[in-house]
Amino acid sequence: MKNWSGYHQWNPLQIFKPKAENEITQIVQKAIQENKKIRLIGSGHSFTPLSKTDDFLVSLDDFQGIISIDKSNKQVTVKAGTKLNHLNKLLDKEGLALENLGDIDVQSIAGAISTGTHGTGINFGNLCTQVRKLKFVNGKGEIITCSLDKNPETFKAAVLSLGTMGILTEITLQCVSKYNLQLFVRKKTLDEVLQNLNEYNSKFRHFEFYWFPNTDYVMTKELNVTKKEADKSSFGEYVQEMLLENYAFKVICEMSYRFPSTTRSVSKFAANTISDFQKIKQSFKVFSTSRIVRFNEMEYNVPAEAYQDVIKDLTNWINKNNKDVMFPIENRFVQKDDIYLSPAYQRDSAYISVHVYNKKDFTAYFKALEEIFTAYHGRPHWGKMHTRRAEHFAQLYPKFEEFNSIRAEHDPNEMFLSPYMKSICKPQSVLS
Ligand SMILES: Cc1cc2nc3c(=O)[nH]c(=O)nc-3n(C[C@H](O)[C@H](O)[C@H](O)COP(=O)(O)OP(=O)(O)OC[C@H]3O[C@@H](n4cnc5c(N)ncnc54)[C@H](O)[C@@H]3O)c2cc1C
Repeated sequence: MKNWSGYHQWNPLQIFKPKAENEITQIVQKAIQENKKIRLIGSGHSFTPLSKTDDFLVSLDDFQGIISIDKSNKQVTVKAGTKLNHLNKLLDKEGLALENLGDIDVQSIAGAISTGTHGTGINFGNLCTQVRKLKFVNGKGEIITCSLDKNPETFKAAVLSLGTMGILTEITLQCVSKYNLQLFVRKKTLDEVLQNLNEYNSKFRHFEFYWFPNTDYVMTKELNVTKKEADKSSFGEYVQEMLLENYAFKVICEMSYRFPSTTRSVSKFAANTISDFQKIKQSFKVFSTSRIVRFNEMEYNVPAEAYQDVIKDLTNWINKNNKDVMFPIENRFVQKDDIYLSPAYQRDSAYISVHVYNKKDFTAYFKALEEIFTAYHGRPHWGKMHTRRAEHFAQLYPKFEEFNSIRAEHDPNEMFLSPYMKSICKPQSVLS
């Protein structure tokens, strides 16, 4: 079994695919009786070994769908294994949609919220902020429900808990009426975008951009809600999103892998392929993109006010030291929240992500950039590559200790802590 990028591989003792809540509770009881550990897996799209285990692995792939809809409040309760692409279609049929999404839609809802998955838009938090209520089976086999009104501390810990407090079974989401988005893709220079960033961030509901290393160019994505009808799928859309962003990019990555000295010129070539483009579609079809090229990724959250300094340091480092960076560097902007382990905890944030083709070694590149992010109090995305451990998180997250005591209350025998999970949750001083 391996994760999406293929970097982590493991062989669980047993894989469970429960179809109902009582089966989920039975798995926990079995693990208690046999003294086994449990890890959970959604779609396996995390780059960190969050789902790695030698013991029991639980997948909720057979536990998907809508449980109930509160139409007047636009709240929908779903089974935790529901994949986002399935959920988006189910919501659409009900006249509803999620207010924001990340840039792919194949994750499970439980997996996505458990790592703090986010999209972009200064007036939107990460996906966890759309959750109103949770139900989970904890390490004692108890069924727990929590929300901001009922057990708010448990809720703020459990909603982003990396599968360390139990198995999420039901998730209630705040939705909005369905809407269309108009996307404009444009080619600009990095300087121009950095100078006008505040304006772009307030003018567009969702704004993000990709810088092409070793060039001055960026590709911006500007999204706003529109009342206009959705376009029919067009050849231009296929050329932009499948041929250029996927198949041609795959060829470019292979060239750079086989002939590293060509990287600089192919990176410039890739920047030259950016062309202005626009489309109107249902919101969920605009947010999500296909990702055919496999890569490893590191993404850090930095305080919004530090962003311009971080990006200057990062671009200087890449331009000076590394001639072998192929993938465009993605920049997104997210509103603060009060979820204990959220990288955006109590700070408006920018997220910067860097990618390396999965056949290539990323260590030196990621290490150098991680030092830059760390200098600005960067918090890593929990599902993406980083080298940080619990001692570091104890400094970065004001509620880290509180999170851990709530986690321990629900999992006193550490059923959900694999060695990796222990290393990121428990500082050395409290390791037992
Ligand atoms: C191509 C690609 C694009 C991506 N784009 C984005 C993006 O735009 N924005 C972003 O923020 N991230 C992005 N990610 C990261 C991704 O969203 C996260 O890693 C997410 O957690 C993956 O969801 P998953 O369903 O695959 O979960 P998995 O990786 O399988 O699991 C993630 C965590 O959730 C836990 N978990 C799963 N199910 C349950 C459950 N029922 N109860 C309790 N815990 C559970 C697991 O134990 C694990 O700790 C991307 C990743 C890839 C590979």
